[in-house]
Amino acid sequence: MKFGELPQNARQYINGRWDTGVTTGISHNPSDTREVVAEYARADRSQTELAIRAAAEAQPQWGYSTPQRRADVLDQIGSEILARKAELGLLLAREEGKTLPEAVAEVARAGQIFKFFAGEALRTPGESLASIRPGVHVDVSREPVGVVGIIAPWNFPMAIPAWKIAPALAYGNSVIFKPAELVPACGWALAEIISRAALPAGVFNLVMGSGREVGQTLVDSPRVQAISFTGSVATGERILQTAAARRAKVQLEMGGKNPLVVLADADLEQAVDCALQGAYFSTGQRCTASSRLIIEAGVHDAFVARLRQRMASLKVGHAVDRDTQIGPVVDQSQLDENLAWIATAKAEGAEHVVGGELLKRPTPGHYMSPALFLAKPEHRVAREEVFGPIACVLRADNYEHALALANDTPFGLCAGICTTSLKHAMHFKRHAEVGMTMVNLPTAGVDYHVPFGGRKGSSYGPREQGRYAAEFYTTVKTGYMLA
Ligand code: NAD
Repeated sequence: MKFGELPQNARQYINGRWDTGVTTGISHNPSDTREVVAEYARADRSQTELAIRAAAEAQPQWGYSTPQRRADVLDQIGSEILARKAELGLLLAREEGKTLPEAVAEVARAGQIFKFFAGEALRTPGESLASIRPGVHVDVSREPVGVVGIIAPWNFPMAIPAWKIAPALAYGNSVIFKPAELVPACGWALAEIISRAALPAGVFNLVMGSGREVGQTLVDSPRVQAISFTGSVATGERILQTAAARRAKVQLEMGGKNPLVVLADADLEQAVDCALQGAYFSTGQRCTASSRLIIEAGVHDAFVARLRQRMASLKVGHAVDRDTQIGPVVDQSQLDENLAWIATAKAEGAEHVVGGELLKRPTPGHYMSPALFLAKPEHRVAREEVFGPIACVLRADNYEHALALANDTPFGLCAGICTTSLKHAMHFKRHAEVGMTMVNLPTAGVDYHVPFGGRKGSSYGPREQGRYAAEFYTTVKTGYMLA
C-alpha cells in the first residue's frame, strides 16, 4: 500500500472486519491546515457495543492460546512497524505535528515495544512456594484480566497505544482501542498492521469517535474488565469514578508539572540543554515536559541569560522541514489555550522573558514561539499543566529550598536535577515525590523496558511498561494442592 493512500479512508475494525462509521470525521495537518490527513469513520454507542461483544466472545480463545503464538503475533507486528518507520513517521508528523525525526523515533519506539512484549509473553511470571501446611503445594499464577478498553491521547499517537496494546495482547486479553480524535490516521495505521497479524477475530478492535460517546461506552460497559487511560486529569477523574464504581480495573496516566532543578554546581551548558529539550521539544506537548525550571540563586541569572539566547535560535516550523526543531501546536484550540496562558501569566505578574508570539510561516499552521517566564511559586502558570511550549523559572535559595519547590505541586510524574554533587543527586532521587527521576537528563525521554508513571495527581493504578505492565494486564490466582 502506498503512503498517499493510507489515511484517506480510515475505518473501524470490529470483530475482524473493516466497517464504516455512523458519521465521518476529518483530521488536518497542523503544519498546513489546508491539508486533510484523514477522513475517518466515527462510531456511536451501538457500534462500540458491537466491538465490546466481539472482544468478550473472542477473549477466552486468546487467553488460552500458547505464549509462543502470542509472542509470534507481537513480534510480527513489531517487525512491520520497524520496517515502515519512515513512512509511518511521516504520517505521524503530518497528523500530530511533531518533527519528522521525533515522529520516526516514536514509531520505532512503538515497534520496539511490541518486540519487547513478544518476549514478555514467554516470560509471564508466576511463583511456587512452600505451604505453611505439610504436604500442600502453593503456586501463584497470572491470568488475563479479560476485555481491556484502551483510551489514548493525541500527543504520542503511536507509542502510547503500543505500550498499552502490546502488553494487553501479550498476557492474553482482548482489546478495544480508542485513539484520540485528532490522530485517527495514526490509530488506523497501527490497527491495520495488527489486523494482519493472525489474531482471532474480535481479539483486537479499533473504534474511533468521541470520548463522550465511544470512550464513555467503554468506561460504562460491565463487559470491559479493565480501562487503561492516558490523557487529561479531568477526563481521568471522570473515568475513575465510573469505572471504579463498577469495580473495573483502572490505570490512569494524566498530567504533570515537572520540575527541573539546576544547582549552582551544575554544568551550565548541559543544564540549559536539558531545559531546552525538556521544556520545548515536541512543542512542549509531553506529560513529562519540564515546565518548572527551579534554579539556584548562584546560577539563576546566568542560566536565564543562556537559555534565552539558545531559545532565540530555535527553529519553529513545518514538522517535516529538515531544519525544524519545534513543530506547530497540535490544533487551534490548544493554540488558543496556550495564548490564554501567556496572557494569564502576564496578568498575574510573572515576568515575561521571551516568546509566546504567534508566528507566520509559508504554510498556514498553528505556530507559536516557545515562551519563558520568571514566576513565583503561587502563580497559576507555575502550578497548572499548560501542555504547550511554555515554561517558567522559579528562583531557589539553596538545594533544600529547590527540593521543597520541586515537591510543591499536586502532580508527581517526573523530576530532574542538574548537579555535579553526588550527595545532592542521591538525596533528590530519594526525596522527589514522583514516579521517575532524572539526573543531568531532561525530564522527558524514557526507556521502554522499565516502569513509566507517577504519583499524586499524575497517575493512578499500576505502572505501565516493562515487566511491571503485568500488574495491570493480569490478575493473580493462588492455587493450593495436597500432593
Ligand atoms: P483528553 O483527556 O481530552 O483525552 C484523552 C482521551 O480520552 C481521548 O481519546 C478522548 O477522546 C478520551 N475521552 C474524552 N472524554 C472521555 C470520556 N468522558 N470517557 C472516556 N474517554 C474520554 O486528553 P488529550 O487532550 O487527548 O491529551 C492531553 C492530555 O493528556 C494532557 O493533559 C497530558 O498531560 C495528558 N497526557 C498524559 C500522559 C501521561 O502518561 N501521564 C501522557 C500523554 C498525555
